[in-house]
Amino acid sequence: MTMAAQERTGRPVFGRRDPDARGYFGEYGGRFVPETLVAPMEALTEAYFAVRQDEAFIAEFEQLLRQFVGRPTPLYEARRLSEACGGATILLKREDLAHTGAHKINNALGQALLARRMGKSRIVAETGAGQHGVATATVCALLGMQCVVYMGVDDMARQALNVFRMRMLGAEVRGVDSGSRTLKDAINEAMRDWVATVQDTYYLLGSALGPHPYPVMVREFQSVIGEEARVQCLAAYGRLPDVALACVGGGSNAMGLFDAFVADRGVRLIGVEAGGEGIEGGRHAARFAGGTPGVLQGTRTFVLQDANGNIELTHSVSAGLDYAAVGPEHADLLQQGRAEYRYATDPEALAAFARLGRLEGILPALESAHAIAAVEQVAREVGTDGLVLVNLSGRGDKDVQSIQELLGDQA
Ligand SMILES: *Cc1c(COP(=O)(O)O)cnc(C)c1O
Repeated sequence: MTMAAQERTGRPVFGRRDPDARGYFGEYGGRFVPETLVAPMEALTEAYFAVRQDEAFIAEFEQLLRQFVGRPTPLYEARRLSEACGGATILLKREDLAHTGAHKINNALGQALLARRMGKSRIVAETGAGQHGVATATVCALLGMQCVVYMGVDDMARQALNVFRMRMLGAEVRGVDSGSRTLKDAINEAMRDWVATVQDTYYLLGSALGPHPYPVMVREFQSVIGEEARVQCLAAYGRLPDVALACVGGGSNAMGLFDAFVADRGVRLIGVEAGGEGIEGGRHAARFAGGTPGVLQGTRTFVLQDANGNIELTHSVSAGLDYAAVGPEHADLLQQGRAEYRYATDPEALAAFARLGRLEGILPALESAHAIAAVEQVAREVGTDGLVLVNLSGRGDKDVQSIQELLGDQA
């Protein structure tokens, strides 16, 4: 199939913009793993590069995206939000309507199918907000695979409902009590498990992060988001959006959206990181605003670290954005000047959460609320004739309890 034909079908795209043979996007990416994982990572790369050219594999992935995930997700014109933001047309890509309530299921499904192809019977995963754990537990139930999810105990407290959900789906959730007791520590534990069990176990990574081939593989499984949105936008408005905008944790929903538009120079790509309590006090997760290049968990990218390379504690009201590194392809897009990155603070995200609920009847995930927080300013920048495409990466049901605790009666 030719690339041009793929580009206009709204289907996931494989083999477009590969990193170099060592897994680098420009100066970022690569594969920094312990000796014991060198051969397994090589085997994973080979297996992935084979299945992504396999018609039967792609057909099964696409069929399950339709029948199980519920794709294509709608492109929704948010009229009242558009009006409130000064008149530019704001389009929401409704990943919140995907099965399990977020984009994470696209990637979890693709990788679980790959794991089965590789003959693995057991899956390990890490999770921050719990969304990737829920998505992984879900696809493991679908395919009849054993599932172990590592989660920081602080995140388990913040996302108790998702912990229960994973257990209902048959997964074992293992609490991680080391370090900052959040996502970074859960990734370390999942890696440790995998080193010891690699024979029968597959490590299902939840974002466009980590050692090669995860960043390119996760982006490709998520590329369906942008491909669908591109087709939907052209069909409804006869042109491409002026801006494609998404929140950036590890960077998978943003890469999934951006990928379809990277070659369209007229489309501005804007990523929104977690500004937490502001950049000055250091309690945030804005890697581009406050970080420097370094290596974390298998990849070279922008990292929040001190002058000696020690990883700094991060903070965000949203567990899914609370991580010290960002996907390496984002670092490359920034370096090339192709994408720009901003941040939204906790209060701005909470205000956006409330605004979208009242104006549109949609409670976004707190992660996605960071993207909504940035929309007002971006809408004014493009003017009333502008088209702003926003990835609504997930729904807010998982967050209402923690928001209730934060806001109490003000909500
Ligand atoms: C996990 C999550 C994110 C952040 O992860 P990315 O890999 O940056 O997409 C964003 N939104 C939602 C709803 C999530 O669950």
